[in-house]
Amino acid sequence: MIKDLLQSANKPKEVVAMMKMKFGGYCNVSYKEPLEELAVKAGDKEFCYAALHKVSRSFAVVIQHLPEELRDSVCVFYLVLRGLDSVEDDMEFPNEQKWPLLRDFHKTALTNNWNIVNVGDSADYRTLLKHFDKVSRFYNDLKPGYREVIADITCRMGEGMADFAEKKVNTLADYDLYCHYVAGLVGIGLSGLFSASGLENKNLKEQRVIANSMGLMLQKTNIIRDYWEDLHLNRAFWPKDIWSKYYDDFTEFEKNPTSEKSLACLNELVTDALRHVPDCLNYMRMLNDPQIFRFCAIPQVMAMATMAKIYNNPNVFTSVVKIRKGLAAKQMIYTNDIKDVCEAFETFAYQIMDKLNPNDPNYLLTKKRLHRIIEAVDEQTINISMVPTEEVPLEESVLF
Ligand code: CA
Repeated sequence: MIKDLLQSANKPKEVVAMMKMKFGGYCNVSYKEPLEELAVKAGDKEFCYAALHKVSRSFAVVIQHLPEELRDSVCVFYLVLRGLDSVEDDMEFPNEQKWPLLRDFHKTALTNNWNIVNVGDSADYRTLLKHFDKVSRFYNDLKPGYREVIADITCRMGEGMADFAEKKVNTLADYDLYCHYVAGLVGIGLSGLFSASGLENKNLKEQRVIANSMGLMLQKTNIIRDYWEDLHLNRAFWPKDIWSKYYDDFTEFEKNPTSEKSLACLNELVTDALRHVPDCLNYMRMLNDPQIFRFCAIPQVMAMATMAKIYNNPNVFTSVVKIRKGLAAKQMIYTNDIKDVCEAFETFAYQIMDKLNPNDPNYLLTKKRLHRIIEAVDEQTINISMVPTEEVPLEESVLF
């Protein structure tokens, strides 16, 4: 905490935000017992919330700030997808069992009383799957409108994961499609839950393209930022068609972090992700409920802050670059409406602009996209149909 405060010493708003986060009751629930012990005595709902805390503390905190009507369905949605993802990520689980389970997860795992032992790549994920009957019973208590959305998204994500189990992310279109399956669908599903709750317009769930962009923006930020961590976990999510323009071997970036080639590759990926920002603004403009707005907007602002930090930053190749805790706290506390988001997006767009180098091969495209963001920030009215976004063609059948 002291180190974080010092890093924000000349930024009073950040210091105030960190103090508010620490002492303002922002994250006041904690589960000290191991999940396995809780599983024995806890009811279905209690187990689900405890599991959420164990597998994603940050998400558990955010969920507490959603309208009460939505908390249970969003909690279940998260746990079901986490269960599916744990199946996908378990490299010891034989493919001939894994692939059919991924494709049928929405049927198998969502019927009452299903569970599976010894699957999952961490202790808490294993416990979650071992007691998945608690999640499925809690799911079956939800209103039909929520259940329908969760089952539909789980079905499509499972299919996508199984498809990608056999193929690699090579082209930009593969990259968009992979991100659609693992993150865009989450955006689309959340829109469905928001509409089903009656707290947002029922048309929100039809806005699949911009909801997809919300997920892609977050997923791509993580994929770009996590180059180094993923490399050491023997994973690579950067699309090969892009990185292979610069080096033949994916490990070369780590060996040459400050080279023009490494930085140009990083900048190309950031530029690609910036394509989604106008869609994200349009999506956030459609939201009415202030709590739902914050739930959606805070991660977007964090992602944009991360983009500004990682653009042209050689440290991405040798460590995991994170934004200052104080800056993160400031965004959590002071992101309350679309005006705050616009202000933040504009600030970060200009920070990237300041780092542009005319010798970068994507200089002009990056500049164009930043200008597009700054224009989009100034657009006061929502007119979805008017805003032509630059889409890499994604098969329509996938989205709709
Ligand atoms: Ca995964």
